[in-house]
Amino acid sequence: MDIPAPPASPALPVEYRLRVLVDLPRHSRLDAVLDYLAPEPWPAGTLVRVPLGKREVCGIVWGAAEVPEGVEGDEVPVLRSVVQALTALPPFTAGWLRLVGFAASYYQRSPGEVGLSALPPDLRDLDAVQLTRRLKRLDKARAAAAKAVVVPPVPERPALSPEQQTVLDTLADGSPQPSLLFGATGSGKTEVYLREAERVLAAGRQALVLVPEINLTPQLEARFAERFPDRCLVSLHSGLTPAQRLQHWLSAHLGHADLVLGTRMAVFASMPRLGLIVIDEEHDPSYKQQEGARYSARDLAVWRGRHERVPVLLGSATPSLESWYNAGPVEAGGGRYRRLVMPSRIGGGRLPAVRLVDLSRIAAQFGKQALRQHPLAPPLLDALRERLDRGEQSLVLLNRRGYAPVLHCTNCGWKSACPHCSAWRVFHKLDRTLRCHHCGITERVPRACPDCGDPDIQPMGRGTERLEEQLADLLPGARIGRIDADSTRTKGSLESQLASVHAGEVDVLVGTQMVAKGHDFRRMTLVAAVQADAALFSSDFRAPERLFSLLMQAGGRAGRDAELAGRSEVWIQTWHPAHALYAALRQHDYEAFAASQLAERESAGMPPFSFQALLRADARTPEAALAFLDAAALQAQRLPGAQEVLVYPPVPAPIHRVADVERAQMLVEASGRVALHRLLAHWLPGLQALSSESATRVLRWALDVDPLSI
Ligand code: ADP
Ligand code: ZN
Ligand code: ZN
Repeated sequence: MDIPAPPASPALPVEYRLRVLVDLPRHSRLDAVLDYLAPEPWPAGTLVRVPLGKREVCGIVWGAAEVPEGVEGDEVPVLRSVVQALTALPPFTAGWLRLVGFAASYYQRSPGEVGLSALPPDLRDLDAVQLTRRLKRLDKARAAAAKAVVVPPVPERPALSPEQQTVLDTLADGSPQPSLLFGATGSGKTEVYLREAERVLAAGRQALVLVPEINLTPQLEARFAERFPDRCLVSLHSGLTPAQRLQHWLSAHLGHADLVLGTRMAVFASMPRLGLIVIDEEHDPSYKQQEGARYSARDLAVWRGRHERVPVLLGSATPSLESWYNAGPVEAGGGRYRRLVMPSRIGGGRLPAVRLVDLSRIAAQFGKQALRQHPLAPPLLDALRERLDRGEQSLVLLNRRGYAPVLHCTNCGWKSACPHCSAWRVFHKLDRTLRCHHCGITERVPRACPDCGDPDIQPMGRGTERLEEQLADLLPGARIGRIDADSTRTKGSLESQLASVHAGEVDVLVGTQMVAKGHDFRRMTLVAAVQADAALFSSDFRAPERLFSLLMQAGGRAGRDAELAGRSEVWIQTWHPAHALYAALRQHDYEAFAASQLAERESAGMPPFSFQALLRADARTPEAALAFLDAAALQAQRLPGAQEVLVYPPVPAPIHRVADVERAQMLVEASGRVALHRLLAHWLPGLQALSSESATRVLRWALDVDPLSI
């Protein structure tokens, strides 16, 4: 690194100027890279403590600072000094710093905000003495562990299936080109991850494995720990205590941990010997951060792999259309990823048969009233009874928690609107509350209509609580369980509920999409989706993609046991049985579905054929939010490259009021990533200026690059 020579005056102590990242959001108009004086030329990546206003904060040395050109003598700004450097910690690698810099510029945040928020909060509070103490403690613990533990024998690995073998042979070249592993549920993708990890571990490198949900980490951790009993494995996710998170992070940073498993935050793990990145269930929307720097951990992982020359393995049974497109033929715009396929399930199990229940026929046969009263059509109910008789399990999916989405008065038509949001308050029968799922406001259910006093207030529609109740009525003697965000609020409750399903203590499980992901239920031979249609006609163009993958994943839960696979079924109740999405699902034909979706997106010029950013604005009134966006649109029109970018008119957000704040948004789209980013970079200073003008009464605004929900 080039450090400018200090002034040659023997009387002055030698001083260096360093650029330091501190945690200031880009909105604060500072770049969050500040210059400080330092007694030593600490290298980029060194952790330091610096004064900032009246506080002392944690910073990361970004590089040497230059004296601004043309400035001399007394005009050189007086800088404050670094308080101390935490040199007990090895500096971050250049690769890690580049990742932070890229993420910041791509998602239009400050590098300081991205870099500092990637560190465990406890680390940011330590001074040099405390850090040294912690590192000593860590060393002691490591030494003790090394002595105490009798390493269990390395377990026998299963013989690879021919498909696994072919995939691993292809991966063996260690090519830094990312690979998309398109493998059916139950095709043994995890075994491929394990073998790849084994290969890079043997070469003395570290492996990073990302999973979408915190709930899935224990399961995966167990499989890796079992396979690599003599290796150090740590996890990184928001469920850890601050002390655990610091310890795990340090293990990764110091290179002690061979394997790092974690959720999206782990993409920023500092790993000096990184040799492999695996992204399991790469299609999962949880990889996108929904606040602050709204980064996609999947996309950053791919970038990181390319720049650190490390192979990246993306796995899914239903890849995101972006990844599928990237792994497609070069002629069609793809060729960025290798496509590896494993279509067969281990043990030769078939994928479950998909049955569609045509609700219009059921209505004609039994009357619409019957459908309103009974959540399940008679043939589906019979199928559930069959499972009960055979001692098998069923899963009934309904993506709506609570008892009923709204209460209404039969006399005057009052409905349980939230006073603070443009949404209904949901009726929860178990604790007799009305709860708004957007602002959280909770009230006792009124005894009578608040408007007319009529005592006859009734639930409308159905949530998981009500479905559970109705199923208990319809299937006397069956043990009904329910898993959703309400039933799993307390720590450990999800684990215990899952365990009771595995132990066979539940016959019919009612659940939200939470249970459709990743959990492996052996005795389950039926999965039913009772209200799936809404996604077919959503205003969000990604809704069909999400529905398809949810139903494929859910179907993958059924018939994991080869012996039961033959009679495993997925049932879908629908008013649109002829819809192309369901037709593809019946054939388990992801490729056909993806092809038709991509064709639609191409003709409509939507991602992956275009690149988008969403500017969101919150204000006390809808007018103020929209006015901010209008003014922003005017600015955008005058920026260089504006003709290459399409700025849509501002619109209210899908749920336009939350907790008395009005939300609006404006979509910006370009056919090329470069054009979009050039505009965004030029636009940002203007947006900052605009938001601080007193005339704009905007409370908050944010840019979401590559937004997932619009
Ligand atoms: P996926 O992640 O693709 O859905 P898994 O990796 O969970 O599939 O594998 C499904 C099941 O098959 C698991 O129980 C796993 O232990 C088992 N399995 C994977 N590979 C093999 C193999 N080569 N031989 C025997 N069993 C295997
Ligand atoms: Zn009323
Ligand atoms: Zn509310």
